[in-house]
Amino acid sequence: MAGQRDDRPDQLQAEIIKLRSQKERLLKELDAVEAQYGNLDSLYRRYFPIILEELSQDGTALGKACTQLGTAMRKKASPAKIEYIFGQIKTAMIQEDVGPVAAKKKKGFFASFRKNSSEDQMLDNIRQSYQDVVNHLKSNLDKKYTGKLESITTNLIRIEDIIDFEGVRENIFSLIFNYISETSQDREKVNAFIRDIVARIFEIEKRLASSYEHTSSLLSSNQGFESLLTDEMAGIKKSFDVAESLDDLRAKISTGLSSIEKALQKKQKVDQAISQLAKKSKNSFTSGFAKLKQELHAATKYSEELEKKLNEDQLTGAKNRRAYDKKIEEEMDRFLRYNNIFSLLIIDADKFKDINDTYGHAIGDRCLQEIIKRTRPLLRKSDMLARYGGEEFVVIMPETDVDGAMTAAEKIRQTIEKIEFLYKEETVRVTVSIGVSCIKEGDKSPTDLFERADMAVYKAKENGRNQVMAQ
Ligand code: GH3
Ligand code: MG
Ligand code: MG
Repeated sequence: MAGQRDDRPDQLQAEIIKLRSQKERLLKELDAVEAQYGNLDSLYRRYFPIILEELSQDGTALGKACTQLGTAMRKKASPAKIEYIFGQIKTAMIQEDVGPVAAKKKKGFFASFRKNSSEDQMLDNIRQSYQDVVNHLKSNLDKKYTGKLESITTNLIRIEDIIDFEGVRENIFSLIFNYISETSQDREKVNAFIRDIVARIFEIEKRLASSYEHTSSLLSSNQGFESLLTDEMAGIKKSFDVAESLDDLRAKISTGLSSIEKALQKKQKVDQAISQLAKKSKNSFTSGFAKLKQELHAATKYSEELEKKLNEDQLTGAKNRRAYDKKIEEEMDRFLRYNNIFSLLIIDADKFKDINDTYGHAIGDRCLQEIIKRTRPLLRKSDMLARYGGEEFVVIMPETDVDGAMTAAEKIRQTIEKIEFLYKEETVRVTVSIGVSCIKEGDKSPTDLFERADMAVYKAKENGRNQVMAQ
């Protein structure tokens, strides 16, 4: 009995020890569970704000999943539940950002990293710069180009890809070339300018293309992030299945989450690099294009100056023979089409050879300059005064009949007659003989008109010079 009694306390003692150790193990396990929650909690809390910050509360699947995660964390939901929500977050992230539809919507979480600052801005910059060129052309070129320029604007608005600017660029330049060829025949220098501009546009687009490629490589590193995220998520999920103990699980989850966190940090750096690059390419594009605009402006101005020079007589500043030929053809066309009449004067300096011989060529030149200077104010704005050659001038007078032309010619003759040049205290006088003709029924070309005026000059000379004759 006593043995039995003695045995029982031993057995009880052993039982107690066993229970105590069981209890201790349980307590330890409880501590571990508690610690694991704490650890997860702090990791989640570190990870969560990074995502949450970037999320607009836009009701997307990702937004909802994140709200769920927040709630689950506050309620200290089980790791399985939290892992499930992470799975949803991952799916939402990938779905929102991958695929052409998501990319076009520009709504996804990663879309904001990936699309905003680089590609679209670049597209808009080029669009705007080309539109500036179109506007510049619109305000500088003749109205007849307006239709073409407006269709270029329509094309510009539709452009969704950088490559499509090629067509716009070609349209712009074919239009400029058109303009140049229509306004000037001697256009070697103007074309050199334009060739230079074409080269510059190519250079800018090439630069844009290379920065675009660079951006693309950064973007592919973002895609790397996405696959890393997928792998880590899969890893965490697997940890739940294969973890041998809570410690093991904790370690595995901890590793997975910290590599996600690292990837997020890296991603932020990539994003910064992208926006810096976009800024840089925007700046280089803006300054490049400002330069280009200057060149274009200079080319337009140069072609205007060249045009003016091409039509101007160097000695007198009057229009030259080339301008006369063009204008008389235009007037002839208007007459043949609408029966708009016009008249022609041929002004020939009298005995000009004698003036040169007596006073020298330089004085002769000054006389020619003076004839133009004094004649110009006597004419209408629509009249064209040109030096036909040597000491001969012509005046084209639109909407003027023979009487009107005679009156103007007589005024010119009298004015020139009165000019007194002083040469070595001697007075030099010049007179002119003027032939007048008006376009009439049956005239087929400007030559018909010119020959009559020339005949009238001949008659005026024959008649004693310093007079006006009509034919
Ligand atoms: P007419 O009254 O018959 O017209 O006599 P003219 O001497 O004016 O006519 P002609 O055709 O015989 O000679 C024209 C002269 O005009 C000869 C040339 O030296 C002079 N002349 C032509 N171009 C210029 C020029 O650019 N400068 C000067 N100083 N003289 C010129
Ligand atoms: Mg002559
Ligand atoms: Mg003469």
